[in-house]
Amino acid sequence: MERWDVTVIGAGVEGSAVARELSRYDLAVCVLEKELDVACGNSGRNTGMLHAGFTYFVPSSGILDPMEYTIALAENACQNGVKFFFDRKVTAIERDEEADAYRISAETAQGTETFSTKWVVNCAGMYASQISEMLGYPNYPVRGFKGEYFVLDKKAGAFLKIPVYPALKRFYDMTLEEQKAAIEADPNYGEIVCRCETVTRAEILRAIHNPLGVHTVTGIKNRTRATMGRCQGGYCETRITEMIEQELGVDPVDVRFSKEGSWMFTGAVRKDPTATNANADGEDVTER
Ligand SMILES: Cc1cc2nc3c(=O)[nH]c(=O)nc-3n(C[C@H](O)[C@H](O)[C@H](O)COP(=O)(O)OP(=O)(O)OC[C@H]3O[C@@H](n4cnc5c(N)ncnc54)[C@H](O)[C@@H]3O)c2cc1C
Repeated sequence: MERWDVTVIGAGVEGSAVARELSRYDLAVCVLEKELDVACGNSGRNTGMLHAGFTYFVPSSGILDPMEYTIALAENACQNGVKFFFDRKVTAIERDEEADAYRISAETAQGTETFSTKWVVNCAGMYASQISEMLGYPNYPVRGFKGEYFVLDKKAGAFLKIPVYPALKRFYDMTLEEQKAAIEADPNYGEIVCRCETVTRAEILRAIHNPLGVHTVTGIKNRTRATMGRCQGGYCETRITEMIEQELGVDPVDVRFSKEGSWMFTGAVRKDPTATNANADGEDVTER
């Protein structure tokens, strides 16, 4: 069992910012997150308004991409030495007085793991009260409010006078000269993988090789906007899946859409007698 100085529970914007801040110090810091990527809770589902207080219409109000912001915080923390553990749902915390530490139990697809830590930082968002209860502080109030989002075509933006969603500087937003220079520097910019959002192969490759080691299809979407256009991934989703397989050398049946268990493929639907993993009868004998 590894011993940590600080364990942050939850990899939303709060947990990622705390982890990044702590990475400035000489501490062994880890983050436990129940999902397979950062920003899978509220931090990936908000409006991106940088609130200045009582009204949106003041100069210090603004918009940012909350997904990109959270990913940047987490990736920077990771590059500075913080260890992120995904697919770790904290289910129990015990106090070990002898070791002057907390003993955290986290569920994974493989079973339960235990983490020993001197300090715990609770960044579990809407589930923060569950964690505080595990730490011996019950009844921490968390109040949720439901809202609704409407996804509009980009053209609708021309009719709106107030900010609705952030516009990002990507290949799509570059000038023609900038695009030409990008393609000259890296020909992968010359291949469009997501036609609706004009996301290039170079951008998808960069997302696949992210420092956090996230390789779900939704992870690529959150880092590039691919699959977020009009066809909602009808054209590019299979291409992205194929790129994940090729780049990381994983089997198609091992690629997940977003969560643990959300496999993109459950196995072969047709027998391929030429496949190396087929038996003498042409049956696919790939094992999970
Ligand atoms: C619809 C909507 C619109 C919003 N718009 C804005 C806005 O415009 N501007 C603004 O400033 N704020 C906005 N907010 C609020 C903002 O999104 C949240 O305040 C912020 O994202 C909270 O971040 P967090 O890291 O605390 O929580 P979360 O992002 O929810 O992160 C908590 C993390 O903890 C993980 N977790 C939970 N339990 C466990 C466990 N047992 N073990 C391991 N991991 C666990 C979760 O999986 C999750 O990843 C909005 C919120 C919503 C819902």
